[in-house]
Amino acid sequence: MKTYYNSPILVSSCLLGICTRYDGNSQANPEIIKLTKTKILIPVCPEQLGGLSTPREPAEIVGNRVITKNGKDVTENFIKGAKETLKIAKIFGIKLAILKQYSPSCGCGKIYDGSFRGTVVKGDGITTRVLKKEGIMVVSEEEIGYIFP
Ligand code: SF4
Repeated sequence: MKTYYNSPILVSSCLLGICTRYDGNSQANPEIIKLTKTKILIPVCPEQLGGLSTPREPAEIVGNRVITKNGKDVTENFIKGAKETLKIAKIFGIKLAILKQYSPSCGCGKIYDGSFRGTVVKGDGITTRVLKKEGIMVVSEEEIGYIFP
């Protein structure tokens, strides 16, 4: 049942303190960083893997596209990043991924609505969708208290 507890875990790199966010910062999460003491964590940033620079323009999911704040369509970068992330997940036999909530790549259950006004709606980021489709369990950093109590 809980076999994924002993497998390497895929993690959004920004949660580990790596400065991969669109604004050039990280989103270090002490609970995730603490997991490095007992688990093998594999950091990934799908947006960098998709060929986007850091820093980069913020983007949100609008319908079936991903659009930056200035209106550039970066959907293909997001799809490429999701596919490359999946390759890494397969190489390491990943069963569980902990990804950054609200991100248009990594969001799990909650993303922004595409208006760039900070409005949250139900939904998954592009990478989360691809990983889930492959049967990988994805949770956000908000849920790790339930996974590793
Ligand atoms: Fe973090 Fe994911 Fe955004 Fe990369 S794409 S900065 S890992 S939330």
